[in-house]
Amino acid sequence: MASSRNVIIAGAGIGGLSAALMLAQSGFRVTLLEQAERLSETGAGIQLSPNATRILIALGLGERLRADVFVPEAVAIKTASGGRLARIPLGEAAERRYGAPYWAIHRGDLQTALLDAVQANPDIVLRLGTKVENFVEHAKGLSVACRRGAFAADEHGIALIGADGLWSALRSRLKHPAPQFRQRTAWRALVPVESVEEEFRAPEVQLWLGRNAHVVHYPVKSGTLINIVAIVNDNWAQPGWAAEGEREELLAHFSPWSWCLPVREFLSVPDRWLKWALYDMPPLNVWGDGPVTLLGDAAHPMLPFLAQGAAMAIEDAAVLADNLARTPDDPAAAIRRYERARRKRTAQVQQAARGNGRIYHLPAAEAVLRNLFLRVAGGKLLLRRYNWLYDWRTAPPGTTVRPGALPRLQAGED
Ligand SMILES: Cc1cc2nc3c(=O)[nH]c(=O)nc-3n(C[C@H](O)[C@H](O)[C@H](O)COP(=O)(O)OP(=O)(O)OC[C@H]3O[C@@H](n4cnc5c(N)ncnc54)[C@H](O)[C@@H]3O)c2cc1C
Repeated sequence: MASSRNVIIAGAGIGGLSAALMLAQSGFRVTLLEQAERLSETGAGIQLSPNATRILIALGLGERLRADVFVPEAVAIKTASGGRLARIPLGEAAERRYGAPYWAIHRGDLQTALLDAVQANPDIVLRLGTKVENFVEHAKGLSVACRRGAFAADEHGIALIGADGLWSALRSRLKHPAPQFRQRTAWRALVPVESVEEEFRAPEVQLWLGRNAHVVHYPVKSGTLINIVAIVNDNWAQPGWAAEGEREELLAHFSPWSWCLPVREFLSVPDRWLKWALYDMPPLNVWGDGPVTLLGDAAHPMLPFLAQGAAMAIEDAAVLADNLARTPDDPAAAIRRYERARRKRTAQVQQAARGNGRIYHLPAAEAVLRNLFLRVAGGKLLLRRYNWLYDWRTAPPGTTVRPGALPRLQAGED
């Protein structure tokens, strides 16, 4: 019986929690090891496109999440000076087209919904304060060496999934290169909806494009808070989520010569900003070895300019569980099929996200062409250009990427 088999997951982020739930649903036991002593709410918003919400709903989390999400009506794309470029319909239009909704959610709400489901599942053991350090394969599977405070501990299983994020220890253990800094910093803040002017409260994702910087904002927490992300070209490369940023330093990137007053005033509202240096890496040709593999940011860290990092981790989890369920007695073969099914799609998304980063921050002369394209294309055509991304469904390995999908200019969002 598959349920007597234990799969070990390193990392209880969105990818690890999703994988644990989907593996348990597929009949496996799961040991989920997380280095943090507790899973705290990281205060930031996240967009969940239909390719991800479809999976979360199938997992049974739809009703729970609907209580917290905000459904944006559109992505409104604007220039730094306030000109309107395009309005990509989301809301009901996206749900009708893709058969699943487009949501904006507070990351903490998503994490709590996943965590509650994990804790309610008798086939999943979550061990907090447990750092995965190494593994050895043997005839009966593998042993995973961990550290709990001052103590060393071992866990045993049939497979090991490294869902341990951007700075994955397991990816280093597999001798893959480290992520590369991309000269961009994301500044993030959350403010009460009533603290911003009306234009910034609109029920949509708004994307403002300027030279060397862009701003994205949208409501979260059922529309009570506005999540703001301002991304600037910068050489500040410090890894981590929690660095505090000074408002004046951020505003220096938004000169009054290029940026209209309403945006500058909007960016002046938050008292507290957190900074996040942006890294990604070229796609890996090989992810894992034997019964060991990577998932989510550990496998394919990407820039946030397509709002797809968490979505790809959720897709990974679905494909992994599907493949392990097909051949539970041969986890290594299942894992190789999973990697084959995911490599091309995640590489396309990494590449498209990087492309958006260039397009969003173009200097004035080149921005003229971009803006013309966005104005002429119009929202419906721009939405169709996302079909390859949002219309994805778990399918037999090798057929998960639609033929002819060409992720070129994606007028997307963070
Ligand atoms: C500015 C910004 C905006 C973004 N916006 C979006 C968005 O709108 N939509 C979207 O889909 N994505 C977005 N993303 C990307 C998304 O946040 C990530 O891709 C996603 O959270 C990755 O999930 P993960 O589970 O792979 O990794 P993480 O969330 O990093 O989780 C990894 C976990 O592993 C644990 N861990 C690490 N090492 C070990 C170890 N050795 N042993 C045990 N545990 C360990 C960590 O503590 C952590 O809990 C954004 C990212 C940024 C920076």
